[in-house]
Amino acid sequence: MRAHPITGQEFDSPVPPGLGWPGDPADASTPVAHDGADVERLAATASLAEIDARSSVCRACPRLVAWRELVAEEKRAAFLTEPYWGRPVASLGDPEPRLLVVGLAPAAHGANRTGRMFTGDRSGDWIHAALYRAGFSTQPHSVHAGDGLELSGVRIVAPVRCAPPANAPTTEEKHTCAPWLDRELELVAPSLTGILALGGIGWAATLVAARRVGWEVPRRPTPKFGHGAEAQLGTPHGPVRLVGSYHVSQQNTFTGKLTEPMLDAALARAAGIDEPGSDG
Ligand code: SF4
Repeated sequence: MRAHPITGQEFDSPVPPGLGWPGDPADASTPVAHDGADVERLAATASLAEIDARSSVCRACPRLVAWRELVAEEKRAAFLTEPYWGRPVASLGDPEPRLLVVGLAPAAHGANRTGRMFTGDRSGDWIHAALYRAGFSTQPHSVHAGDGLELSGVRIVAPVRCAPPANAPTTEEKHTCAPWLDRELELVAPSLTGILALGGIGWAATLVAARRVGWEVPRRPTPKFGHGAEAQLGTPHGPVRLVGSYHVSQQNTFTGKLTEPMLDAALARAAGIDEPGSDG
């Protein structure tokens, strides 16, 4: 443990909260979750800003805390001179979005390094370029947390907020992290009309979370993931269209399994900007 240089509060992450990292939602007074019960309690009635702050200092999953901080200490050779974030990564974008993009979890040397969702790696290049082409973003690249990027009308969330080893969180870790996502879904529902789920895990996590927060989800059959798959969800504020897309991982984009036109089409469908009369 180290002591916060200003407040004296003990912390155990590469980046202490509230020390000027661009966009850091937490400060030294932000309450820290140490287990699943803490996550439930701290998420239950939180505002969106509190969810961002509290989740960004969360320490409820021992395996993920150890991994994210080990990666941040050892670093990848290309980034040896850079500080790593090494903390959970909060959602990024508009607090009143019409479109939600649901991924999986931060990448070890992407968001776990830069502290911002889908920032600093090739996956991020793909989704941010697509958001820019669709008019949701001020710039086609997302390089680091202070690069000036602004999103409007869209919010990017992850069902698991810490980088997991081999990109594979356990069932227990997904369960522990779920209250952050659940509360966020409740808070953005009034403005929401579409969700783009990246990959089968993002799709499944969205359906499970939607059921948990009481949204109507088709049951028989349960909607199956596929690129371009669709399902209609019912929230207390109106219908939301869930659209699936292959994940923007290098495995998919390098091999051509996911192309830019495919991603653009899925994004447009989820955002409702492929329809006659839409103003985009
Ligand atoms: S995965 Fe979620 S619940 Fe687990 S430590 Fe990270 S932010 Fe907390």
